[in-house]
Amino acid sequence: MNKILITGACGQLGSELTANLREIHGNDAVIATDISEPNPQMGNGPFEHLDVMKSDQIDEIIGKHQISVIYHLAALLSASAEQKIDLAWDLNMGGLLNILKAARDAQIERVFWPSSIPSFRPDTTKDGTPQNSPCNPATVYGISKLAGEQWCAYFHRKFGVDVRSLRYPGLIGYKSLPGGGTTDYAVDIYHKAVQEEPFSCFLEKNTKLPMMYMDDAVKATIDLMNAPSEDISIRTSYNISAISFSPEEIAESIKKEIPGFNISYAPDHRQDIAASWPNSINDSQARHDWNWKPAFSLDEMTKEILENLPAFWDIKAV
Ligand code: NAD
Repeated sequence: MNKILITGACGQLGSELTANLREIHGNDAVIATDISEPNPQMGNGPFEHLDVMKSDQIDEIIGKHQISVIYHLAALLSASAEQKIDLAWDLNMGGLLNILKAARDAQIERVFWPSSIPSFRPDTTKDGTPQNSPCNPATVYGISKLAGEQWCAYFHRKFGVDVRSLRYPGLIGYKSLPGGGTTDYAVDIYHKAVQEEPFSCFLEKNTKLPMMYMDDAVKATIDLMNAPSEDISIRTSYNISAISFSPEEIAESIKKEIPGFNISYAPDHRQDIAASWPNSINDSQARHDWNWKPAFSLDEMTKEILENLPAFWDIKAV
């Protein structure tokens, strides 16, 4: 049986990916790891404390559980990384290199590692940013993602490690809370809306960013990992896109379900980060190579999220 190791499994993406992989492969096949404590969203199954900055711990867990596939998610996200640049570099880069070396030495079959849209540069083509756009990132997070993409391509070219990657846009879900990214507002806004509280947004109202519903992100990740090796033409990281919207547009979408919803704007330091990112992404290579296609539009995502937050039904009942 293929045993799967997930690092950073307690995070926003890790919790949902762990639960999905456990549904597909069975609870015991998925070893969730993190420096934090496990949460109920991850489902039941084995959990180990693992600090990805400690290579001996990685080797020990790979050996103990006979791991053959790794999803390496542990990282410091964009907004937090700007506050702690040394930790961001040590964790995002050191953790990835530890995983890549462990994968090479233990002959792991497949590795997944996420990059992100901040690997692009501020003055790149902002609409429909192409796969091979120039990359001069403006943040330490973006620098770490760009360098990580090149390390992945290097380990594939030099050592034959089958590592695959996606440049995720902002990920939005309702099951787990975000961990310090610049697109976190698009998760928080739904929780405030169902509490019938006004929402103060830390981005300007017309700041359009590429986003994706969590179900689409999990599907893209699993589809990429299931694709035959010969179909993978990008060994740095694939562009993927789903929806692009501004705070004003997500607020309009919420108002279709909760007409009294109120939003105001108080941009902070995260506005500068967001301003350096693309508005939308061209993902034609992912669509061509492994048939990527998102399922959720903005309004479909809004409806799905609201209907899964119990407080929404209290508003409807009034
Ligand atoms: P998150 O911040 O919610 O979770 C990260 C997890 O890593 C946390 O549970 C944390 O405890 C863990 N962690 C921190 N330091 C660790 C260490 N030394 N060893 C092991 N675990 C450690 O992040 P997320 O949103 O789940 O993101 C997962 C990955 O996806 C990251 O690589 C991130 O850059 C990428 N990504 C996320 C988004 C998004 O919108 N969430 C967008 C683009 C890319």
